[in-house]
Amino acid sequence: MDGKDLVQVVVDLPLPGTFSYLTQSPVMGGARVCVPFGNRRVCGVVVAPIPGEGVSQIDAAKLRCIETVLDGLPPLPEEFLALVDFAAGYYHHPLGPTLFTALPTGLREPRDVRRVDQRPFALTAAGLAEAPPARQRARLALWQALQDGPLRLEQAKAVTPQAGKLLADWLAEDKAERITPERPPLVLGEAPALNAEQRAALDALCSSQGFQPWLLHGVTGSGKTEVYLQLIAGHLAARRQVLVLVPEINLTPQLINRFLERFPGSRIVVQHSHLAEGERMHGWLDAWHGDADVVIGTRLSVFTPLPRLGLIVVDEEHDGSFKQQDGLRYHARDLAVWRARRAGISIVLGSATPCLETVANVEAGRYRKLVLSQRAHGAARLPDVRLVDTRRRQLVEGLAEGVVEALKTRLARREMSLVFINRRGFAPVVACTACGWTSGCPHCSAKLVVHLLERKLRCHHCGWEEPVPRACPDCGDPDIKPLGEGTQRLEAALQRMLPEARVLRIDRDTTSRKDAWDEVYRKVNGGEVDILVGTQMLAKGHDFGTLSLVTVLGADGGLYSADFRASERLFSQLMQVAGRAGRAEAPGEVLVQTQWPDHPLYQALVAHDFDGYAASLLAERRQAGFPPSVFQALLRADSPELAQATAFLKQARALLEPLAEGVLISGPAPALMARLAQRERAQLVLEAVQRGALHRLLSQLQPLLDPLARQHGRSLRWSLDVDPQEL
Ligand code: ADP
Ligand code: ZN
Ligand code: ZN
Repeated sequence: MDGKDLVQVVVDLPLPGTFSYLTQSPVMGGARVCVPFGNRRVCGVVVAPIPGEGVSQIDAAKLRCIETVLDGLPPLPEEFLALVDFAAGYYHHPLGPTLFTALPTGLREPRDVRRVDQRPFALTAAGLAEAPPARQRARLALWQALQDGPLRLEQAKAVTPQAGKLLADWLAEDKAERITPERPPLVLGEAPALNAEQRAALDALCSSQGFQPWLLHGVTGSGKTEVYLQLIAGHLAARRQVLVLVPEINLTPQLINRFLERFPGSRIVVQHSHLAEGERMHGWLDAWHGDADVVIGTRLSVFTPLPRLGLIVVDEEHDGSFKQQDGLRYHARDLAVWRARRAGISIVLGSATPCLETVANVEAGRYRKLVLSQRAHGAARLPDVRLVDTRRRQLVEGLAEGVVEALKTRLARREMSLVFINRRGFAPVVACTACGWTSGCPHCSAKLVVHLLERKLRCHHCGWEEPVPRACPDCGDPDIKPLGEGTQRLEAALQRMLPEARVLRIDRDTTSRKDAWDEVYRKVNGGEVDILVGTQMLAKGHDFGTLSLVTVLGADGGLYSADFRASERLFSQLMQVAGRAGRAEAPGEVLVQTQWPDHPLYQALVAHDFDGYAASLLAERRQAGFPPSVFQALLRADSPELAQATAFLKQARALLEPLAEGVLISGPAPALMARLAQRERAQLVLEAVQRGALHRLLSQLQPLLDPLARQHGRSLRWSLDVDPQEL
């Protein structure tokens, strides 16, 4: 091929495999390139050939040349490529789309990017030796200014507007150079003295060597963040970089302020999807070039290259937002653990309510646990949790009298309350109010979901269907109904019953605007709010200062749900919202309205017994054969017609069954959210006790399913979800 090299390139298009291109001169792996593709020009990245993903047909006559090597930046670092490679393999997602998902959008375009070099200029010995002639006034002025010491470009431009051109010439002639200024020593803001538990945790973390995942299990307000900050200080003093993953963009402002106060001279880079494109990219580039000390960000920041990485912190590690729910369905916490292993460093997973996967990893000895059992601040205590039995009380529009009274008391005392309405996220199960019977599947350990319109109960695990019974099959009571009904009108009822209260509602809609949270905090801190009303969003780690009462409505819907994770999630959410109550002078109070006050979940909540309840949930999962005791993947399909999605999955199952050694395949069954954006969704559940067995099957999937999907035409889409968080 007339002395030209052949390289493999992945492109920014939703296509699997690599593509062969010719180059005039050798191009390094990781280089960004601009390549012709069809009648377009797209951005590509040069990679090693991938075994199994196939190489586009090499027909020498048809091979095309790389158009440009985008060399304003060095090739993407090996660390980044290795992580992307792992993610593509683990999630069985094509390498190209994985790689481009991991890049900031600014680097996905086929144009060159240059990093603004901020380093100051200084004269070299050669430059110093040769004074410009007096008639070149600008040149001489700049030369004289540089005699006094290095200048940054803006400073040089203040001497003469021609500085840019002059300095570029001098750099080329070796008369000037860029110098890296001495970094000032680390400056630390004021920090409180740690309590004994925090001290013990910090000591353990500081003496940790090599790869080690740690669970920092601390009750809400126990000072986990303070432990991170003091741990991070040590890494920054040693000039190492730190990656901090947080669940929500909304949480970052509070946290970033704490970081800025603690590390005033350090460069802290923020990474999340709401940043302006240029800002995100420049932060990413600074991190990659070692100029950022701390990267704080949401799940996508797990891909940020950090050459001096010394520590990873995942705050609120149980949070569902670490899992991406479309495209590359990665879990940032899990990728972060992989990254820590590869870098041979510690990773700290912090939570008041760690997820069961993490608890199981601690039990198995893979992760080490540190406990903070007390609130850190002054005399702050955990709140008193009380259950309000709604079976024996008069309800007015769904609200128990005791709850309304408690709200009125706080209102009179001018204290702020929070009303948590558990509304979304649980598929309804039918239950008998007389004996407690709930609808279980006769064929597997899942709960049946009620579909009221069709009057059907349906299993979303194995696909079983039956009619909704007219009366309880156990005791004959006709009063059976879906759990968690009736939360819709609670909010309106509140306003009617407490018309003088200033109510602030917090949900996806009211907080989607960019600065909505600033507004929430301003109102809350300014004493403009009596009652905060909200749904799941309030269960996140927000700090609203002095809440003395938290009331929980509609929680029962999560007790018996078709999603086996529902009780874990509900428990975690309730512990988290309960954690919003309480302050130094008086313990907070939490009131939970329920028809099932004896349920172990509520009993554990009253006793603040996370460990006990988590252990019982884990035992249940093991018995039922659910994760984390097995590994799952979902093969999802969606189409405008449910029949088509189901037919595709049936055929897929027939193809996979003979290969499924050590893997149990169930379904097709409709997804819990069966209809989304005008499309019907169904799935197969693939489960295995051995992770390896599952992945062996998954790696054979694509070549079998692509041709099958093509027979169904464009209306059918399929995708794979490894370690799914939602059924
Ligand atoms: P968490 O991250 O566990 O929710 P934080 O680190 O935010 O807890 O701490 C909760 C509150 O207690 C914060 O106001 C923090 O400043 C304070 N705090 C943390 N540690 C201490 C300590 N050792 N002494 C006094 N106050 C502390
Ligand atoms: Zn019954
Ligand atoms: Zn079933």
